[in-house]
Amino acid sequence: MDPKQDDKEFIFRSKLPDIYIPNNLPLHSYCFQNISEFKDRPCVINGANGDIYSYAEVELASRKVASGLNKIGIQQGDVIMLLLPNCSEFVFAFLGASYLGAMSTTANPFYTPAEIAKQATASKAKVIVTQAAYAEKVRDFAEENGVRIITTDAPPENCMHFSELTQASEDEIPVIKIDPEEVVALPYSSGTTGLPKGVMLTHKGLVTSVAQQVDGDNPNLYFNKEDVILCVLPLFHIYSLNSVLLCALRVGAAILIMQKFEIIKMAELVEKYKVSIAPFVPPIVLAIAKSQDVDKYDLSSIRTVMSGAAPMGRELEDAFRAKLPNAKLGQGYGMTEAGPVLAMCLAFAKEPFEIKSGACGTVVRNAEMKIVDPETGSSLPRNQAGEICIRGSQIMKGYLNDPEATERTIDKDGWLHTGDIGYIDDDDELFIVDRLKELIKYKGFQVAPAELEAMLIAHPTISDAAVVPMKDEGAGEVPVAFVVRANGSKIAEDEIKQYISKQVVFYKRINRVFFTDTIPKAPSGKILRKDLRAMLVAGVPNS
Ligand code: AMP
Repeated sequence: MDPKQDDKEFIFRSKLPDIYIPNNLPLHSYCFQNISEFKDRPCVINGANGDIYSYAEVELASRKVASGLNKIGIQQGDVIMLLLPNCSEFVFAFLGASYLGAMSTTANPFYTPAEIAKQATASKAKVIVTQAAYAEKVRDFAEENGVRIITTDAPPENCMHFSELTQASEDEIPVIKIDPEEVVALPYSSGTTGLPKGVMLTHKGLVTSVAQQVDGDNPNLYFNKEDVILCVLPLFHIYSLNSVLLCALRVGAAILIMQKFEIIKMAELVEKYKVSIAPFVPPIVLAIAKSQDVDKYDLSSIRTVMSGAAPMGRELEDAFRAKLPNAKLGQGYGMTEAGPVLAMCLAFAKEPFEIKSGACGTVVRNAEMKIVDPETGSSLPRNQAGEICIRGSQIMKGYLNDPEATERTIDKDGWLHTGDIGYIDDDDELFIVDRLKELIKYKGFQVAPAELEAMLIAHPTISDAAVVPMKDEGAGEVPVAFVVRANGSKIAEDEIKQYISKQVVFYKRINRVFFTDTIPKAPSGKILRKDLRAMLVAGVPNS
């Protein structure tokens, strides 16, 4: 039967019952609520050097960092930027900021100085926590704006060492009251349209999202305190921050941190630490499915592989299952603005549900999902594809200082419009079939076409441009540009590629340039991206 709530709407809910969620607690209190049950167990394991911090040590270090940050002037409502690869200091700084009622804006350390400066300016970050290798990139910005640079390794001139923060006493955290609606994490995302924006995730939102994944009477829903979870996906992306770090802290699992993905190193660590939970993105699943080198390692400890952040085809799922038959492979579906998890595979539940190849799981508990016809705006029944919308306490509060973009994304009834097209089948499984929005996903990383288009159009010999995704086996998608040369210009493909490469992180680089006479646009001026994507499929003649 179709899930009719009233005469007007088809609303879908989880197959599992709702649960109690203590979302009046600040995030750190919620994460450490059950710490007495596992305080001496390993919490953070540094894969690079084998250092292990117990739960008690992680909690203590985070409190000390909170005091240390407060000593250098960070207060409730302030923003710190975490410009870090995965490391234990990321964990201490994120939790330390939470204790203070401050916010962490997370950024990729491979960003160019201009990309970092844009985010640090927009978020008004007062401190940048990074590694010495990246300090040069932010030095000019920091000096001009009175921002303090803290490095987790030997600090270059005028930077502070992270260990100074941990020298503070954990008892000196100011006594404050944190409202659950206060923002704790501020990742950047372009959402359905335009440039990257600050996504305001509150204490209440993140507590709700973590609880939806791991709380309640379903101890194996995702994972539990006996598990070792691999943290190879970057913590600066909300998928890893939430579904790896925060979920692990809540349940008491051990978090094995890897700074970057190297397949052999990863296989070695999985074998050594008996990793049981492996959250991945499709390119990592692909790399494992194709690698013969990993066959030399014992990966049989992995019981669960979760893939998310980008589409994964059925063929890849099947190839991976053949390679690691002991592991259950399921997908999760997330979007930064949604907190981020909208749906997850329930194959790991106490009474597991069957996994369907290609499905992204079932809508999380304590939330509502509907599928909306993009033309009419009305909600659709099962098996009909439309825009996926979600409602619940886990979604973002809005975009930082951007009420218009917030209103375009969250409607007046509280529904967040994802810009993804999908349908829900007879077994409540969600299938994503297309993307309505502009976003390009390179190995799960966001590329906002609007950002590249603004750079292209700023070039004196380019009169118009549009950037769209092109399918790519290794990366999933890569950005390609349609470019209209200015009168008389002979600018070549390589010149354009280099011009962009200098300004952006590696995954935003333009893969191909197609020259054209006009960019197809609607009367409103909106680029008809669907037409350009169709041209790519049909084959574009390069003029
Ligand atoms: P982000 O905000 O960077 O997490 O990107 C969110 C977007 O990634 C979603 O809106 C989808 O377009 C895409 N995405 C995430 N998970 C999946 C999935 N399992 N299958 C297909 N697309 C996905």
